[in-house]
Amino acid sequence: MYQINEFVDERQKSWCIHCGAGNGGVDTNRDHVPSRTLLRKPYPANLPVVRICSACNESFSRDEEYLSLFLRCVIAGTTDPDGHKNPKVARALKRHDKLRARIERSKSERWTVDGESVPEWQPEIERVNQVVLKNARGHAFYEYGEPMMAEPARVWAAPLAVMSEAEREAFEDDTAGTLVGWPEVGSRMMIRAVEGQDLRDAWIVVQKGVYRYRVDQCDTLRVRSIIHEYLATEVCWTGS
Ligand SMILES: [Zn+2]
Repeated sequence: MYQINEFVDERQKSWCIHCGAGNGGVDTNRDHVPSRTLLRKPYPANLPVVRICSACNESFSRDEEYLSLFLRCVIAGTTDPDGHKNPKVARALKRHDKLRARIERSKSERWTVDGESVPEWQPEIERVNQVVLKNARGHAFYEYGEPMMAEPARVWAAPLAVMSEAEREAFEDDTAGTLVGWPEVGSRMMIRAVEGQDLRDAWIVVQKGVYRYRVDQCDTLRVRSIIHEYLATEVCWTGS
C-alpha cells in the first residue's frame, strides 16, 4: 500500500481508541489494522497502523486468531492441517490444536431439499464481532482521524454467499455515504479521495482478494470490509 502521512489533530492520538485509556501513562503497541493474521504472506508494505494500549492489543489477539483460522477452515472445507495449502495456516492449525477441535465441533451437516448433505459452520459470533469492531475502529481512525469509542448502532458480518444479488450489489456499490460529508483536510481519506491511492470504487484494497475496506461518512460513520472475498462486515455509528 502507499504510505500516506496525515496531518489531523495530534491531540486525537493521545488515548487508546478502544478503551479510552490515556496513552501517556500506559504501555502501547503499534497495532496493524487489519491484523496480519487476516492477511497472506508476503504482507503488503505500509500496512495501516494505529497506536493502542497493550492491554487492548493483547485482549484482541485470541479472537483474531480464531476468526482467521475459522475463515480459512470454512473456505478450505476442513480443519485438517494437511488440507491447507497455505503453510502458515497449516502450522497455526497444528499449533492451536484446542482451537482446531473447537472449530471442528462447530461444523455440522445440513440436508438440502434435494437430499444433498452440505457442511455448515457455526461461527462464534461474539468473537467475530469483537474483531470486526476492532478493525472498524482502526479503519475509521486511520482514515478520518476519528476515535469512535461510542457503542456502535450495528455490528454485522455475513458470508457474501448468503446475500442476495441485490444485497450484495448494495453492499459493494452503495454510494449513499461516499463523500457526502467531506473528510477533514489532511486526513488520509481526504488524500485518497484526491489522489486515488489504493482506492478501487471507494474500496481501499489492503491485499487483493484477501482484505479490502471502505469508510463512508454521511450522518453516521460506516465501515465495511470484505475478508478473503468471503465475509462481508459492517459497523455503523449513529450521528453524534
Ligand atoms: Zn486500550
